[in-house]
Amino acid sequence: MNNFKIYLAGLKNNQTEKIDSLIDPNLLNLSNEKELVFEKPFKITGKVYLTQESLIMNFDINFTVSIPCSICNNFTNKTINIKSFYITEDLKNISLAYDYLKEIRNVCVLEIPSFVECSDKCKKREELNKYLRKDEGDKHYPFTSLEI
Ligand SMILES: [Zn+2]
Repeated sequence: MNNFKIYLAGLKNNQTEKIDSLIDPNLLNLSNEKELVFEKPFKITGKVYLTQESLIMNFDINFTVSIPCSICNNFTNKTINIKSFYITEDLKNISLAYDYLKEIRNVCVLEIPSFVECSDKCKKREELNKYLRKDEGDKHYPFTSLEI
């Protein structure tokens, strides 16, 4: 059970309900996504309303993920802002309330970058570049000496 449900009964008469909630990362079951650490709650703001046939939810999501730098492997924090994310659900599919946690989880997973670099420019990158350049200078072309 959680408090991230929208009850249809509370939304009649063309009302718009404002959403302003903090979600404990544990509730999002993201721990099975390896090497991701969430230290702060996810911030969800937005609004929900009904049309004739649908429940419309429009959210801004803000969260911080700690994730290993792709170059040096140290954990680094990334703040992710998702603007104006829409969820639309057919009223036919909702009995009493709509639980939006799952959709929030799905969109957040998609927005977490697979390549992350610490402080936007990893200190190890220079070392790596030096190494790469050196490597390029030493490059030999195995096929040039090939006799046909
Ligand atoms: Zn790094």
